[in-house]
Amino acid sequence: MKTPKIVILGAGYGGLITSRQLEKSLSDGEAEVTLINKHDYHYISTQLHKTGAGTASDDKIALHIPNLLKTNKIHFKKGTVQNVDFGKKKVYLDSGDKIEYDYLLISLGFDVATFDIPGVEENAFKIKSFQSTKAIYNHILRQFSAYKIDADPSRLTFAVAGAGFTGIEMVGELLEALPNLCRAYDIPFSKTRIITIEACPTVLPGFDQEAIDFTTTYLKKNNVELMTSTKIRKCSPTSIDLDNGEVLPSKTLIWAAGVRGNFLLEKLNLPISRGRIPVDEFLRVKGVENVFCIGDAALCMKDEKNALPPTAQVALQQAVLCGPNMIASLRGEPLKPFMYHHKGTVASIGNKVAVGKVFGLKISGSFAALMKQVIEARYLLMLGGPSLIIKQLLKIKKPYT
Ligand code: FAD
Ligand code: NAD
Repeated sequence: MKTPKIVILGAGYGGLITSRQLEKSLSDGEAEVTLINKHDYHYISTQLHKTGAGTASDDKIALHIPNLLKTNKIHFKKGTVQNVDFGKKKVYLDSGDKIEYDYLLISLGFDVATFDIPGVEENAFKIKSFQSTKAIYNHILRQFSAYKIDADPSRLTFAVAGAGFTGIEMVGELLEALPNLCRAYDIPFSKTRIITIEACPTVLPGFDQEAIDFTTTYLKKNNVELMTSTKIRKCSPTSIDLDNGEVLPSKTLIWAAGVRGNFLLEKLNLPISRGRIPVDEFLRVKGVENVFCIGDAALCMKDEKNALPPTAQVALQQAVLCGPNMIASLRGEPLKPFMYHHKGTVASIGNKVAVGKVFGLKISGSFAALMKQVIEARYLLMLGGPSLIIKQLLKIKKPYT
């Protein structure tokens, strides 16, 4: 009998942890598994704000995928997925390669939602991938260099769109980074501005009031300008237009105003809802044989009305079940339904402070920052065991590299 082919699209949180599950549970020769990803590195998306502000070394955020695969049960292929023919069971890559599958996992992650706001796509900086956040940091460095020549204040005005979790984590990281950059470029810190622009009346909309109050106080104390109940209407390379009529001169708008499923999903001729692919309780794409979808690409319902949020926590729990469910499918065994267990949410505001709720307990300050590190270490443990945690701890950031 032909060895079944399993193909995984995307080596993010969902795709990599599913690969780890398959490595653990497949018998030798039971299936040929191919993991396909755009780059040969996995970026830790939950820490991309650090790459954006230059507060973490590149090798801490981007990990070489072949080094993360423990056995030869998974074949890694670097490639960009262009399309999938679900009838012919083939994945098409931009290189022209066609990859056949019997079982497919779509774990292609998120794209940034720009809501067709004029100028955002072209001019705002996105927190989307390792490369896009590296571009933010390089741009910030260029602004510091150029300010030394023209002293244009809009170069040191750093605006962040959206004060959800991503926006707050980005602002927190800028608070870490800018004083050091000011020292390095010999520019007074008082010349810099960090501005948060949020459409809702508060930061962290929808989160606990204590967390909102803590974050608001902390940011104000650190001179972050909070523009709440304010929507961005358009932006250019040099200015941001707000719905209150104000035009803010700034050469840096960092877009953290929401996410949606990977744009590629819309090309796949599958039903799409809210930019994501609806899945059943076993994480299978509805109406397509042997195709699974998890993570930010999947629309997985929590109850009749509400979908689970696009978080790493959801992607990881799905991956832990998806691997065994794919194996059960190929063995003709019953599949298990996905049950999400929410453990909590912690948002960092720089290195030393965080805010959140863990197992129902509201936390803030340095204890929350410690919890955030524990959560990050737990992911590394799932990915590569204790040795990966140690390896990562030993990677020290060299200033301004
Ligand atoms: P991803 O991790 O995005 O992986 C998708 C993979 O697919 C990537 O490797 C990408 O390169 C690859 N890919 C994309 N397109 C193609 C293509 N065409 N061909 C080949 N490969 C492709 N969630 C939490 O729970 N806790 C947090 O603390 C947290 N912090 C966050 C902080 C930031 C700054 C951001 C942006 C998000 C954060 N999130 C957090 C959300 C979390 O990062 C996502 O929910 C998670 O990454 C989703 O995992 P995924 O596997 O679906 O997608
Ligand atoms: P989000 O949708 O949660 O927040 C986006 C914010 O941008 C909203 O508050 C919205 O009101 C605002 N906004 C939208 N359009 C705007 C406009 N034109 N002008 C001004 N403000 C505007 O998106 P996110 O923060 O990127 O989070 C995405 C997902 O990732 C969520 O599920 C989140 O929980 C998760 N995440 C989690 C963490 C964490 O747990 N630490 C960190 C980052 C992201």
